[in-house]
Order: sequence, then structure tokens, then C-alpha cells
Amino acid sequence: MPMVDAELPQGEEFPKTESSRVRLGPPETPDPRPSRIPRSKVRRWNSPFDRDGSKPAVSVFLTQPAFVQICSLAGQDMDNEVGGALIGQWRIDNPSGEQFIVAEAVLPARFTRHGSAFLTFTQDTLVALHDEQETRYPEKRMVGWFHTHPRMGVFLSDYDLWLHQHFFPEPWQVALVIEPHTQIGGFFVREEDGSLDHHRYHGFLEIVGNSGKSLVYWKNLELEKPEGLTEGAENHE
Ligand SMILES: [Zn+2]
Repeated sequence: MPMVDAELPQGEEFPKTESSRVRLGPPETPDPRPSRIPRSKVRRWNSPFDRDGSKPAVSVFLTQPAFVQICSLAGQDMDNEVGGALIGQWRIDNPSGEQFIVAEAVLPARFTRHGSAFLTFTQDTLVALHDEQETRYPEKRMVGWFHTHPRMGVFLSDYDLWLHQHFFPEPWQVALVIEPHTQIGGFFVREEDGSLDHHRYHGFLEIVGNSGKSLVYWKNLELEKPEGLTEGAENHE
């Protein structure tokens, strides 16, 4: 259990809301672009909480390059928490109206302070992440963030929740937590009513390549039968 992690951060480490460069961007969130859920060549990985009647505001899709990148970063330090931003797209399925995000790339967080049981995103961390996203992925969005919990399990601490609500406040922004030793992971996704349970995590939909081979090895997720076999429905551009 994280002890240090539960401490709320000192105020000076975080940007003031009114003057922050972190909250740059259009004042209102534009609507998601219409698209189609990439149902073909997808594998659905369910968490133990995915069948409990919850209604996540968005479905989470993860590309294989993003998954590999995340696992690589998560394994770089098995003793201290590491993290970063998830970059991708926020879309609305046409015609079902179901919202989804596609995480396609990862930006490692810099200027963090971390230890075995805490990770602090400083103001410099958040500014750097947003700057890098605008430079490298101007057409994409920060769809969430991820961090590791070495030897702790998959949950959001009080501080994690604080960070998520302040810096990833959109209904469609998610938090991924990975435990690299036991190789488990899960996504925290707001419900349609805006609530967020800090213990009940979700699986995701892996966009597999033409080979159809899955790369996911997280032991707490269970593979469901392929979602759909229709070809040609995967274009989410
Ligand atoms: Zn945490």
C-alpha cells in the first residue's frame, strides 16, 4: 500500500489553474470527431470489473506500438514509479454514438519526483508533456496518463485521483496503472455520470495487426472472443 503516495502534493509544485500553461487549449472541449469504432482486428481484454454493470464514458482502444512502448517504459525502473502521457484520439462512433479513445503513442514524463511508492508530476512535467504533444502530435490529444505501481497493485491513490481530476478532467481522459512485477494493469475510466472508482479498473481493446496476434500478457485481464470479424471497419482517421 502506498503511504507516501497518499499525501497530497505541496501547492507550489503544481500550476495555478488560472495562470497555468498546462491547461492551454480551446476553452471549451470540442466535440469528438465522428468515426467508426475499429471493430475489426480487435481483441477485447476484460478486467474482473468489466462485467459488473458499470457504464464507462468511453471505450479504450490501444494500439500495439503504444502497448509495447508502455510496457517498455514500465519495465525500465522496477523499484520506482514511472509514468507519462497517453497520446491519441477521442472519437464518437457513427452511428451508435458511442464514444471511444484510441491511445496510439506515449510520452514519458520528465522532471518528475519519484520513489518506490509515489510519483509527482511537477509543473515542469505537465508543461513539458503538453509542449511535446503539441510539437510531435499536434493533431492528437492527450487522452490520459499512465504510471507504475511497483509491488503495489492496480488502484488510484488519493494523490493519483487528485492529479487525474485536476489535469485530466475531461470525461474521456483515462488513467492507466501498471504493476510491472506481477505484470498486471488496468484503465481507470470515468462512468457516464462522471464518477470514478479508484479500485475498479477496466481492460481495453487491443488493435491487433494483420497477423491477428495479441501482444498483451497482463495476467489480470481475460481475453474475450474477437469483437467482430468484419473487414474494413477499422479506419478511425
Ligand atoms: Zn499511483
